Amino acid sequence: MRFVLGATSDVGRVRDGNEDSFLVDERLALFAVADGMGGHRAGEVASATALEALRAAIAADRDLDDSIVAANAAVFDKSSTDEELAGMGTTLTAAVASADGELVIGHVGDSRAYVLRDGALSQITEDHSLVEELRREGRITEEQAAVHPRRSVITRALGIDSSVSVDLYAVALRDGERLLLCSDGLTTMVRPADIAAILRREPSPQRAADLLADAANEAGGEDNITAIVIQAESGETDAPDTPGVVVAPASVEGQARPDPDDEPPPPPPSAGAASRPRRRPIRWALRIAVVAFPVLMVLVIAFGAVGWYARRTFYVGLSADRVTVYRGVPGGLLGWDPTVEHRTHLPASALTHLERDDLANGHRFSSRSSADQFVSRLDRGARARATPTTTTTLPRAAVPTVPVAPPVTG
Ligand code: MN
Repeated sequence: MRFVLGATSDVGRVRDGNEDSFLVDERLALFAVADGMGGHRAGEVASATALEALRAAIAADRDLDDSIVAANAAVFDKSSTDEELAGMGTTLTAAVASADGELVIGHVGDSRAYVLRDGALSQITEDHSLVEELRREGRITEEQAAVHPRRSVITRALGIDSSVSVDLYAVALRDGERLLLCSDGLTTMVRPADIAAILRREPSPQRAADLLADAANEAGGEDNITAIVIQAESGETDAPDTPGVVVAPASVEGQARPDPDDEPPPPPPSAGAASRPRRRPIRWALRIAVVAFPVLMVLVIAFGAVGWYARRTFYVGLSADRVTVYRGVPGGLLGWDPTVEHRTHLPASALTHLERDDLANGHRFSSRSSADQFVSRLDRGARARATPTTTTTLPRAAVPTVPVAPPVTG
């Protein structure tokens, strides 16, 4: 299996400089797109630095994920030691042919890899972007994602931290099938259906890459556009469209990443094009879930038990200077606050000092009826003290209790 290649990088129609870089190294069978970000020229430094380090590591026979970790370290080192470059970062989506002819794809950020197979385009990589994560979690729709004000925010990049998590995929291309690596300057401007149409009808990979950039520019060209078209060929074919090694770093100064206002790209057609042998994010999520689930269950059960206990006990206390029956535990328990069951007309002033002190801390009962009986006793005592000879001072109807709503916590 050999590869026929086409590659292009275009500044677009809005930006001053091109912070995208790409790498096509036929000898190593290594292909990569990087989309840099950072003030002044930092973005282009980030993307170019990442690709140089990636190539050096692959040339030294290191695995693709190791090589991307090395690229991260190279960008991070530069950003930590040069004040002008502080905070720079870059996406990286790279493909390298393994010994058995498969392409291994390593991915960090929101550049993308697609496969064109049987005329259908399938997205291989998942964007590490805020809106894409919200969309995958079902918190926003496809339509909301496409117009989200923070859709240029990426959640993973090279050069931001000393460590990086790399997504890996494997793709076995058959004769005539194509792999597309591209920056978001293409995918935010051109829908997958239109990308697919260009890749289907243009036989030359280089022409196809150029036409993709043209389409993005015609749609507004709001960001730098980079595309590599890799076509698998079995047997002997003509010389490739591009020279043996091309590294295309950016040229002019550029700023922060834009928010394209173009029409939302619809979801890519889902033809089963690529196998996905290793999915680290999911594996880690599973491990965390396996550990966290039993712990969570114990906490839920404990919380429920406390709540059951807290809610089945009662106490008599004072609320707004009235004798009041509460459900719960005085002061609450683990967030289970007591609630008022009934507030009586019996004022605190009618009680003895001893009774008032008792109620100040809440006199606890295991049932509502025993709490009510206690209130009746308090009331009878108060009546006896207030009017030893008549029973007209306190109206009978006021005793023992009057329902109160809504419940108020003590
Ligand atoms: Mn971009």
